[in-house]
Amino acid sequence: MSDCIFCKIIKGDIPANKVYEDQDMVAFHDAFPAAETHVLVVPKKHIDSLNHLQEEDAELIAKISLAIPKLAETLGLEGYKTLVNTGKAGGQSVFHLHYHILGGKFLKKDALQNT
Ligand code: 5GP
Ligand code: ZN
Repeated sequence: MSDCIFCKIIKGDIPANKVYEDQDMVAFHDAFPAAETHVLVVPKKHIDSLNHLQEEDAELIAKISLAIPKLAETLGLEGYKTLVNTGKAGGQSVFHLHYHILGGKFLKKDALQNT
């Protein structure tokens, strides 16, 4: 999608601090971190949200689920939270599906809550 900020990051049109990339997904540090480590895992395919997943996306989502623990290990996280906000009422602000990985101390008390 041309006006999607994460599609622009995937295309390299706007910079991001990438920590992982393969044919299916990219992971980069959140520009406004809510925790000491705050990485977003983003499928390269534009999918608006979890609500927009199709059956054909099952393998992609499995790959992301399998990549997250490996990525967390690379980031040196002993434990972490994984979060997906869905819909405006669910706190989603970027409408390209993404998984938050949050590790270490939280920096914002109200971070990632619904507004
Ligand atoms: P959401 O609120 O949709 O679950 O999460 C969107 C996340 O994207 C937020 O945590 C926000 O800080 C992050 N974000 C928004 N714009 C950018 C950007 O241009 N670059 C990066 N790296 N993160 C962004
Ligand atoms: Zn997109």
